[in-house]
Amino acid sequence: MQFYGFNHFVDSYGVMGSPIQHTKSPYLHHLFAKQTHQDIVYTAFLVNPTELRQALDEFQINKGLGLNITSPLKKFAFNLMDEVTPRAARAQAINTISFTKDGRRLGDTTDGVGLATDLVSNKNIPIAGKNILILGAGGAAWSIIESLLVHKPQSITITNRTESKAFFLAEAFADLAKLKVISLAKLNDDLFDIIINTTSAAHQDGGFNLPSTLKCNHSHCYDLAYNQEISGFLQWAKAGNALSYHDGWGMLVEQAAESFQIWRGVRPSTQALLRP
Ligand code: NAP
Repeated sequence: MQFYGFNHFVDSYGVMGSPIQHTKSPYLHHLFAKQTHQDIVYTAFLVNPTELRQALDEFQINKGLGLNITSPLKKFAFNLMDEVTPRAARAQAINTISFTKDGRRLGDTTDGVGLATDLVSNKNIPIAGKNILILGAGGAAWSIIESLLVHKPQSITITNRTESKAFFLAEAFADLAKLKVISLAKLNDDLFDIIINTTSAAHQDGGFNLPSTLKCNHSHCYDLAYNQEISGFLQWAKAGNALSYHDGWGMLVEQAAESFQIWRGVRPSTQALLRP
């Protein structure tokens, strides 16, 4: 575990994950703090799953007030909380921890709200009444579904390389909505209004190929991955004349703003940080 520049005298926040060098969270939170006149320090910590329990203890002993949790720790951290919000319980993962004065750890997830805010408010892509296709059934898919359902889409369909995980995910939300599951090979041009890529394929060489039967010329396409020139999924969207295509930068900014509000009680403006 490596703690970089911890400061005991200012309200301290941070992000834990592995790898962590790429994180934009310190940049975002320091900008939010400057904008809202909050005196905080926000630090990146390289923490592996086996080190997480000790890292949380040390952060708390050092009077840290809040943490973001990123890959691959979101599920591990969930199991180390004293209390979690209903949306985190549903996602079985957290990305935001608040440490209370009496030493309790409260876990939440802001990823889903981050995506919904970016789609609806920033990109003017309504979710209500729309047919949504989600590619992937990993942690990110679990984190976004409840927030999408809040906006009352017409349908949500999930497809995943390992199909059993898609069925498991649909089952976990069955009391909220009937989510459809379809195998990747059977995807066709059932007009989806919004196609959301939650797979981590963009981080791997070659990515993955969608079947030629799936068209996107009536769809808005959104890739949760960001930081790439343009991911394979977004290249596919561009080539297929999607109505619009976007990476996950706006979601990252909005989930950070939501975490900041939880900790500091003030909502920073995100407009200056969003890509045109
Ligand atoms: P995860 O839990 O590891 O899940 C990965 C998913 O990708 C699984 O469904 C997996 O399928 C699928 N997958 C991986 N490689 C694939 C391939 N070559 N072909 C097809 N499917 C493949 O990861 P995660 O935490 O959900 O994160 C997913 C992505 O979301 C990452 O790019 C992450 O950076 C991004 N994300 C962005 C934000 C944001 O704020 N913008 C927030 C959270 C996550 P199997 O089940 O078959 O393995």
